[in-house]
Amino acid sequence: MNNWYHITTGQFGYPQPEDDFEYLELTYEPNIGCPTCHVGIRQNNPFRFRTEPKAKNSQFLGLNWVFDQIFVREPVKTEFEKNGITGISFSRPIFHKSEKELKTIYQLHVDTILPKALIGENLNTEKCEYPTDKKMLKFLKANGSGLVDGPFCGDLKFNFPQGQKMTFDFEVFENLPDFVRTYEWFGSGGSANQPILISEKVKSIIELNNWRGAFLDQIELKNKKARIANNGYNSLWQRAKSKLNL
Ligand SMILES: [Zn+2]
Repeated sequence: MNNWYHITTGQFGYPQPEDDFEYLELTYEPNIGCPTCHVGIRQNNPFRFRTEPKAKNSQFLGLNWVFDQIFVREPVKTEFEKNGITGISFSRPIFHKSEKELKTIYQLHVDTILPKALIGENLNTEKCEYPTDKKMLKFLKANGSGLVDGPFCGDLKFNFPQGQKMTFDFEVFENLPDFVRTYEWFGSGGSANQPILISEKVKSIIELNNWRGAFLDQIELKNKKARIANNGYNSLWQRAKSKLNL
């Protein structure tokens, strides 16, 4: 079984227009997904940039607030296409003011969504609901946060792991394209993301070319079924032990 990696990038600039997160309206399909926690949102228009990104040495780039979209420079597109990397397509983001296409980067689209596969018991979750913690509520109200107003969809999202690994059921990692997204949503507050995972093949191309700007965290793959069977066996054994005074 090959290894898989969660890919993220450095963040350069903000999606436009950035005031009041207005980019959401211009970049994502209206009336799809939750307007409060943003789980379920779907991009339907190009991302809008203020300028061409300046980080010339970074082949991989990202935007603040948007943790599940990747932008790449020309050599990445060329090499990925040459090597037959699957599960990706490319488009140009646009300048917010002129609506002309940027010339130096592409958005790398990943549209394959994995089946439900996260083993998330080591991760914190947040439910989209009226805040129950009084201190949190006071803080959000003081900041005029929309997280107090709702509507609330009741969906769960996982906080991005801090120091732990993302863990998935290995059974779904068969016959996949080289780029996929998680079924589960990650983030906090109004930020909702479906992280991108890449195959070992993509990792080796990135390393071979010494490209900068991509951060790769290996994910852990476990056999969910075997683990459940094991737990079942263990609890049976515990009961037997106590009954038989072993
Ligand atoms: Zn929601």
